[in-house]
Amino acid sequence: MSWWFGVKLWKRVFLGLILGVIFGLAVSQTMAPEAGEKLLTEIKIVGDIFIAAIRLVIIPLIFFTLVAGVLALGDPKKLGTIGLKTLVLYLLTTFFANTIGLAMGTIFRPGKGVELGAAEPRVISADAGGFLDRIVGMATKNPFENIMAGDPMTLVIAGLLILAAIWLTRRVEEGGVKRPVVAMIFIALFALGIAMASMDILFLIFVSLVIGITFLFEPGDDGPAMRFFTYASDKVLGVTHLIMEIAPFGVFALIAWVAGTRGLETFTAIFWLVIAVYLGCFIHMAVVYGAIVKFGLKLPFVNFFRGILDAQMVAYSTSSSSATLPVTISNVTENLGVKKSIAGSVLPLGATINMDGTALYLGIVALFTAQAFGYSLEPHHYGLIALTAALVSIGTAGIPSASLFLLATVLQVFDVTPEHTAIIVGFIFPFDRLLDMMRTVVNVTGDATVAVTVAKWEGELDEEVFRQRSSN
Ligand code: ASP
Repeated sequence: MSWWFGVKLWKRVFLGLILGVIFGLAVSQTMAPEAGEKLLTEIKIVGDIFIAAIRLVIIPLIFFTLVAGVLALGDPKKLGTIGLKTLVLYLLTTFFANTIGLAMGTIFRPGKGVELGAAEPRVISADAGGFLDRIVGMATKNPFENIMAGDPMTLVIAGLLILAAIWLTRRVEEGGVKRPVVAMIFIALFALGIAMASMDILFLIFVSLVIGITFLFEPGDDGPAMRFFTYASDKVLGVTHLIMEIAPFGVFALIAWVAGTRGLETFTAIFWLVIAVYLGCFIHMAVVYGAIVKFGLKLPFVNFFRGILDAQMVAYSTSSSSATLPVTISNVTENLGVKKSIAGSVLPLGATINMDGTALYLGIVALFTAQAFGYSLEPHHYGLIALTAALVSIGTAGIPSASLFLLATVLQVFDVTPEHTAIIVGFIFPFDRLLDMMRTVVNVTGDATVAVTVAKWEGELDEEVFRQRSSN
């Protein structure tokens, strides 16, 4: 037992990953298909429990870390520069991802001569809802909607928060803290409850920023808010560590299920697509992120990749960048020395809007479609595919297979018929998990790269922590 806990977590998760693949393949090769699938689906419950547990900390973690982060920065203007730098970097890396994706699709021609006959067509919505739509949606959202609608979850959370606030007010007043500060902490917790019930991360980022900035303008606040939020974010990070102890088993269960139910036979049907996506993803990570860390920031990139291995493996097995977010925040702050003020703002935003792997994948699939059906593409189509893939990747939610269902928007660029779109989505859908796992790793790694870069630029990177990882 003590041996187990003595081994570094990433090694234990890695062990879970490898054993999961072996176990899944062994089950699919030795057992009858139905019995094998039943067994793996039962085992997968461990993975689902892991995802459910980690989802539990997403909202409070973002909220507390972001508010504490804004308070630590101490100056709202600094927030503007950080925001701008973050967005520029996110767009820039997505542009490179697009380019690599289109290059891979052109070199490997994964759609050429592919047999689509057996595909079961799937009709999907054509509207991706871009970044602007989401901003507008966020600004016009009424946070009390859930309460008015009598959503039981919101009501329970609101009730608990009121009790917590009463208790807190007593405690804090005993300590001599001013009433306005107490009231604001109360409002902040209430907003958290609402965000928690609606699980809307972009909205949560917005609320947290507003609350953090309001605290900054609170005159005479001698730091209790700062202490409260820092303490709370430390505690939620502690809960994340506890949950990560389930990760080796969760990862094992999820990977065994993927390997066993989507085994080697199905893989051959999309062999070149898998090669193009995986190779493109590796090139993007090694060349673009590697160069940013090594040449842009003059930091050892081996330490960078080792530092975020936990997050990468969780991303690979869960196929969800938002479920991975707590692990990314913990890795980036603890292994790479990024201050919480940066990690807490850059990473949640990245998990929502920065999806390099998704942009890369969408480009390849667009070319795959053109090649499979013989649509001829003009040079300007490539530019438009890249642009639309980037916009769709911004609008994609960080959950499994989200982008496949937004594919139609990209395919519209060269007038793919709805029937062809449905066939392509139906064809890729059964194998998408394999591709999704890889693009999610890139999505998460991209967020971490930008967080490190912005932290370095802002003087919020503890380089000693970053460099010391080489010894493990
Ligand atoms: N699964 C991806 C993610 O969570 C999104 C996608 O489907 O591309 O990052």
